[in-house]
Amino acid sequence: MENKVLVTGGYGLVGSEFKKPNFIPLSSSEADLRIREDVDNIFKTIKFDSVIHCAGKVGGLGGNMYNKGQFFYDNIMINTNVIESARVHGIKNLVAFLSTCVFPDKVEYPLTESKIHLGPPHFSNDAYAYAKRMSDVQIRAYKEQYGLNYKTVIPTNIYGPNDNYDIINGHVIPSLIHKCYLARENNTDFEIWGSGNPLREFIFSKDIAKLTEWVLDNYEENEPIILSTSEEISIKEVVGVITELMNFKGNVRWNMSKPDGQFRKPSDNSKIKNYLPDFKFTPLYDGLKETIEYFEKNYNIIRK
Ligand code: GDP
Repeated sequence: MENKVLVTGGYGLVGSEFKKPNFIPLSSSEADLRIREDVDNIFKTIKFDSVIHCAGKVGGLGGNMYNKGQFFYDNIMINTNVIESARVHGIKNLVAFLSTCVFPDKVEYPLTESKIHLGPPHFSNDAYAYAKRMSDVQIRAYKEQYGLNYKTVIPTNIYGPNDNYDIINGHVIPSLIHKCYLARENNTDFEIWGSGNPLREFIFSKDIAKLTEWVLDNYEENEPIILSTSEEISIKEVVGVITELMNFKGNVRWNMSKPDGQFRKPSDNSKIKNYLPDFKFTPLYDGLKETIEYFEKNYNIIRK
């Protein structure tokens, strides 16, 4: 029988991209992962072999800045419970998601897997970042003490169809798509936060799912592994692609009273490239096109 894989956050941006029948999605309505008993019940009900742990309280710059207490508590509880309960229930293999937010604010670029703990994270998302860093600590400790083949991945900014398009708390791409849509429909300005100069590395949710599946089956190093195209693009350029794809002809307004966040956080993807030299990342234009088509078709039912 094929391995049964539990996918926490199974209906989210990344979780919903694991399509094979032996990948079993868990939704937040089925279990409150902050509660240990709920987590234990999942493993008692079905005998899983592995876990892909995508669930978490996540948000963009706004969500992180304005909800630090909640982001800390929810994430530290969810991760601690899922990893410990998996161990107790004999789960052999697990992948958990970190984020490039975990890296120190002041660090020599590019970001590599060995630099996570070298200094405090950026103030805008420090509570979330510290909670996430602890998954790395927990997983390394479990590997050392219990010999478990658990590991973490560090994706850069993920985007894709099944995102949360919340304008205040969402990540930049889904927020911009939603704002551009409203500006086009209502004939208003399309408002962007900050200067548009910050640089980010975006990766398509479907690429993340493929790479994570590979990591689950094949990756055995102690360190996390960065999942990234290592191609930087400015927010301004992203705005250009979105306005083109959404056929927006109105006024774009740069709201300088809103934060820029970290200026850049370039990552070094050589580890994953060495393992998978032929992997083809989805070009940003193609991924955005697919995402926007999905958004426009499903406006009434998407998270927003
Ligand atoms: P980050 O990579 O953790 O900072 O998260 P985001 O995905 O939220 O990206 C934030 C970057 O996008 C910052 O440079 C923001 O100034 C810029 N940005 C521009 N407009 C928006 C917006 O409407 N929402 C968000 N979240 N960011 C925006």
